[in-house]
Amino acid sequence: MRIIHDIREMQAASRAARIQGSTIGFVPTMGALHEGHLSLVRRAHSAARLVVASIFVNPLQFGAGEDFSQYPRTLEADCARLEAEGVEIVFAPSTEQMYPAGATTVVYVEGLSEKLDGRSRPGHFRGVSTVVAKLFHIVQPDCAVFGQKDAAQVAVLRRMVHDLNMDVELIVAPIVREADGLALSSRNVYLTAEQRRQALVLHRALQQVEACANSGQSSAEKLRSAALAVLATEPAAKLDYFEIVHPDTLDPLGDVAQGALAAVAASFGSTRLIDNLLLPPR
Ligand code: AMP
Repeated sequence: MRIIHDIREMQAASRAARIQGSTIGFVPTMGALHEGHLSLVRRAHSAARLVVASIFVNPLQFGAGEDFSQYPRTLEADCARLEAEGVEIVFAPSTEQMYPAGATTVVYVEGLSEKLDGRSRPGHFRGVSTVVAKLFHIVQPDCAVFGQKDAAQVAVLRRMVHDLNMDVELIVAPIVREADGLALSSRNVYLTAEQRRQALVLHRALQQVEACANSGQSSAEKLRSAALAVLATEPAAKLDYFEIVHPDTLDPLGDVAQGALAAVAASFGSTRLIDNLLLPPR
């Protein structure tokens, strides 16, 4: 496995791979890898000959007072896990290379960037779309795999790829969970044992929505009330949002019969967690 830190070297490696007829699958991450990330790598290997994973904690997507400086950085262990998965190239650039002094160009997906997490994390999705656009130009992948865990991110990036005619296929992989239902997240390491137990309420609320929808309830308002009742059983959870929206536009829906995204964000102590459920069309 090659570990590349330099942008030009990464571009040259991609160009060489393409000339040799390889297809490139790309998995962008911020490191602190867990089974969720590795599931994306496996998905990428099933879609492309060569897999590139990037590890870059992107300062542009963190707001003031967020956890940029504390974010877990475990490059060596991450590389060992990626190598064990058969990843061909890890791209791990420095912040200075990605954002040299004087850089002023950003990619901003209007409208979508202010919905769900974008509302409580101003500038977050601007940072995400900018870094992913840059990474696509550097890695030049045929396809890129993202997790359904970050459902709003998927909506923003789909829009970006479509609007900017990027020649990259976006593949979305399902949420990987712990046995007890907690969605895997690099931020779970911040949780105390007590908070980890409290955080299970997110999955319970989504399960309640799924059960109600399966029993025929299609009113988004009723489904949301059912979820809020479950969330209220855990007073330690500081709810940011629970919304039932269209998975592409992220606009609130009145009815889920045509399919919907139920998405939740809440903090446990100072750790903000997200989770979601895709309701299929009935
Ligand atoms: P991050 O390192 O948190 O930026 O995440 C990198 C990629 O991994 C994103 O596409 C995430 O959606 C995805 N991801 C994170 N957690 C999970 C999970 N539990 N299941 C599936 N994908 C995930």
